[in-house]
Amino acid sequence: MIKDQAQINALLADIRRFVRERWHPIEDEVERLDQVPEALVLELRRKGYFGWSIPRIYGGLGLTTEELVLCAFELSQASVALRARVGTNTGIGSEALVADGTEEQKQRWLPRMATGELTGCLALTEPQAGSEATNVQTSARTEGDVYVLNGVKRFITNAPLADVFTVLARTEDGTRGSAGLSAFVVERGTPGLRTGEPYRKMGQAGSPVSDVYFEDCRVPRADLIGGREGVGFQTVMKVLNKQRLHLAALCTGPAIRMLDLAIEHTQRRTQFGQAVGNFQLMQAMVADSQTEIFASRCMIVEAARARDRGEDVALSASMCKYFASEMCGRVADRCVQMFGGSGYVADFSPIERYYRDVRLFRLYEGTSQIHQLNIAKQLLRERGQTAP
Ligand SMILES: Cc1cc2nc3c(=O)[nH]c(=O)nc-3n(C[C@H](O)[C@H](O)[C@H](O)COP(=O)(O)OP(=O)(O)OC[C@H]3O[C@@H](n4cnc5c(N)ncnc54)[C@H](O)[C@@H]3O)c2cc1C
Repeated sequence: MIKDQAQINALLADIRRFVRERWHPIEDEVERLDQVPEALVLELRRKGYFGWSIPRIYGGLGLTTEELVLCAFELSQASVALRARVGTNTGIGSEALVADGTEEQKQRWLPRMATGELTGCLALTEPQAGSEATNVQTSARTEGDVYVLNGVKRFITNAPLADVFTVLARTEDGTRGSAGLSAFVVERGTPGLRTGEPYRKMGQAGSPVSDVYFEDCRVPRADLIGGREGVGFQTVMKVLNKQRLHLAALCTGPAIRMLDLAIEHTQRRTQFGQAVGNFQLMQAMVADSQTEIFASRCMIVEAARARDRGEDVALSASMCKYFASEMCGRVADRCVQMFGGSGYVADFSPIERYYRDVRLFRLYEGTSQIHQLNIAKQLLRERGQTAP
């Protein structure tokens, strides 16, 4: 649903300009320094980009799902570090509070997340809870008016710079799976919360990811999200169902950008006396990539509109994330091919960096295999059958 076409058109034009004029020129520098320059973060804050999905009453833009994915298509036509810097606040880092926070929790955190003063993150994954996300071992035992958290979270995007952590922990001893899990909001500086050194990764330089440690970390009862124990996994699933559409859009933008770069290259590069882009085998790769990008966009917009109508999008969000992330991988591979040797050499083209950056899409927020299982399970359930 588009609430205000003129407003969204202006925002999309602003993002497009920002990406091309401010971000593309510094992508190599971001890779080299492995960080987003603070001046640029301030610019993003001033523009209100951190608050896209936070409701207006809490200082955000309150974009609908359709508006959010349209913005994500634009913002992600760039190296991943750009959207990853704002993306936890416009997605997994704020959404648990938006969906299920108490009024007091929303008032306390969301306005400062909307301005980017605070950076949020979602700490769900653990060493023994990856694809099996409900196998959470982090415990939260009650002691008077506080919960005492102990455990390790792994692979947490933006943890090294986050101020606010949404954390899933087990409040009920002896429970397994999604039962007995509760979601908390924990502020940096709380004694017993510590983040590890940023990992050395394959790609996505400038987007720091690390472990998070809870060692007798005392969290006030008031920071139990929604004030209810035992429903944390349901909260996280609400976050992920929306986020999968958002992420699918964020997988589509890089594919658009890579194809643009590859087409430019094949028009410039001559072999056998003509631009290599004239060869029909090259055009086949362009056609396949553009067709898949179009399919991805259509699926995502359709599913986003369904979510805005209040429909259950668990199945379509999973299909969108699965298709868009795999599609982006295929486009990246074709684009390296269209660049020839220059596609493999960082000194000669940015495609090498994009190729590494986008590899992660098929792994996080549910691997492709987990989405395949999820899609089949839901489809079979609709038909009254059960997947093994
Ligand atoms: C850079 C990065 C950033 C991340 N950011 C975050 C974040 O911000 N917050 C957060 O909570 N998590 C984050 N993650 C974690 C991410 O979501 C997990 O890595 C992902 O869910 C996969 O879990 P795993 O790595 O433990 O792989 P595993 O679960 O160990 O999977 C290994 C392989 O087994 C396959 N597999 C597993 N189970 C099955 C099955 N039943 N059937 C078929 N195949 C199966 C998988 O598909 C995969 O190929 C991030 C990860 C990375 C690498």
